[in-house]
Amino acid sequence: NLFNLLQEIKGNIRVFCRCRPLNRGEISSGYATVVNFEAAKDGELGLFTGGPTKKIFKFDRVYTMNDDQSDVYADASPLVISVLDGYNVCIFAYGQTGTGKTFTMEGTEQERGVNYRTLEELFKIAGGRKEMFNYDISVSVLEVYNEQIRDLLAIFPSSKKLEIKQALEGFHHVPGIVEAKVENIEEVWNVLKVGRNARAVGSTNLNEFSSRSHCMLCIMVRAVNLVTGESTQSKLWLVDLAGSERLAKTDAQGERLKEAQNINRSLSALGDVISALASKSSHVPYRNSKLTHLLQDSLGGDAKALMFVQISPSENDLSETLSSLNFASRVR
Ligand code: ADP
Ligand code: MG
Repeated sequence: NLFNLLQEIKGNIRVFCRCRPLNRGEISSGYATVVNFEAAKDGELGLFTGGPTKKIFKFDRVYTMNDDQSDVYADASPLVISVLDGYNVCIFAYGQTGTGKTFTMEGTEQERGVNYRTLEELFKIAGGRKEMFNYDISVSVLEVYNEQIRDLLAIFPSSKKLEIKQALEGFHHVPGIVEAKVENIEEVWNVLKVGRNARAVGSTNLNEFSSRSHCMLCIMVRAVNLVTGESTQSKLWLVDLAGSERLAKTDAQGERLKEAQNINRSLSALGDVISALASKSSHVPYRNSKLTHLLQDSLGGDAKALMFVQISPSENDLSETLSSLNFASRVR
């Protein structure tokens, strides 16, 4: 099992790179592909940055365009056991808008993504351990937009700002948010639907809006060992990050500018946290953004994190692709 194998060799953050196929528009515009998968098996991705020379990036895993949703999930699935064993886990997708973050995490009804597959397996394994453990599983759905937390499951959103608090045992949580208790995957699916609908409220174009906010599922797992009576609590974050692209100069004003600055700030905070962890720095700056503060328990310590860096193969996205790959390289 890939994840645990890598775990023994290195730290607790894995980076997997996934490139979407050229889309119809790119094909009809005649754009060339700038990515090269020759050494994908060795975790290497080649990028033609101009001329015949290619720059090589190394990851824990590089998917080719032939790898499908189940191939991607196969590498993430060991983390499900980790969560049920009491570890905090975080899986997130990073990248420019339109590169497949939502496709990887949410997927579609025909091609389910990591979120659905993870939860499905979580219930399956929990069910198989019934004799030994009593599991209590609940789901929260949050959105972070402009450094503000929104509870997408709240029927009557509170006028009070949602804040992150640290419990006595050190656990971070957001007092007042809805934690929907779920017993099976059908219930989860319904909860996620409620979240998705709430997300659409107040935005004329969901796709466009969702690319500027972080969508965060938190799965809380409370376990009681029926033999020893010991109880543990762990959480799994599944995060579809805001688009990492830089703002076009023409858009750099008003509300859009503020949004862009907040996205920028939280994604760089995430990069700072990850590189502090990777370099085993004594200070990890979790508090610089709501995103990293929320994820604190699931990044660092003995938590296990997995980042999908999503990219486009098209030559017209080259500079954003380069910037995403550079971001992801900070982790290693
Ligand atoms: P993002 O969330 O990063 O903005 P999306 O997940 O919305 O990007 O993907 C943009 C488009 O590309 C969607 O139509 C999606 O179905 C398609 N797409 C993304 N990744 C893949 C893939 N690996 N294979 C096929 N289509 C993909
Ligand atoms: Mg998206």
